[in-house]
Order: sequence, then structure tokens, then C-alpha cells
Amino acid sequence: MLCSHESCFRERQIILPVECTHESDTAYHPWCIHCGLIKNISEDRPKKIGYWMNVLSKLSYRFSISQCQKRLIAKELDSCKEFIDLYGITGSSQKEMFVKTIQKYCNLSKNNLNSFLC
Ligand SMILES: [Zn+2]
Repeated sequence: MLCSHESCFRERQIILPVECTHESDTAYHPWCIHCGLIKNISEDRPKKIGYWMNVLSKLSYRFSISQCQKRLIAKELDSCKEFIDLYGITGSSQKEMFVKTIQKYCNLSKNNLNSFLC
């Protein structure tokens, strides 16, 4: 079951390096008081499942992915917690997961997919 994350009080936040910045900056990070997951506060924001379904739909026109493949991909994305539970996830790890799922059902190269996603 997914945790309905609840961030800790400000005083209890922990100092961690901020990902995706050039300098080695640190910042206070909130974490979930139920499961301990640290919240992603970087610029690399995750996107909701609807965004990825849109991308899938555009992708299917561009690379002629069949309805059947599309359905299987959509079903799998919908069951990935990376797209449902956005608390600790980064946009780039979502993208990686997205590409991996597409590749599982379609014979498309990573380069092809990445160039489309940028
Ligand atoms: Zn939690």
C-alpha cells in the first residue's frame, strides 16, 4: 500500500546535498514521518501520470506504436509507484522508468526515445 506521506516539522528536517545543481549546495530536506522517505526538493520535479500518458500518446504517433502495445504500456505505467507516489521521486528517474517500460514492449532505441523526450 502506498504511504500518504506527511512531512516532518521544519525543526526536524535534515541537511542534505541538493541534487542537480552545479555547486555542492546543501539544503534542509523534509522527510515523511510515516515511512522516512526524503522528499525530492530539487529542480528535477516529477510529473503526474497524466503527463506521461500524453507523452505516450504522442510517442505512439511518432513511432507508430500499436493500440495493443500502447494499452500494455499504459497499464504498466499506471501500476508503477514512480508515477503515482511523487513524494521522493525525481523527474529524471521517472523518465528512466518511462523509457524502460516503452522498451519492454517496443523495439525502440534509448537514443530515439531520449531525443523525443527532451
Ligand atoms: Zn511516507
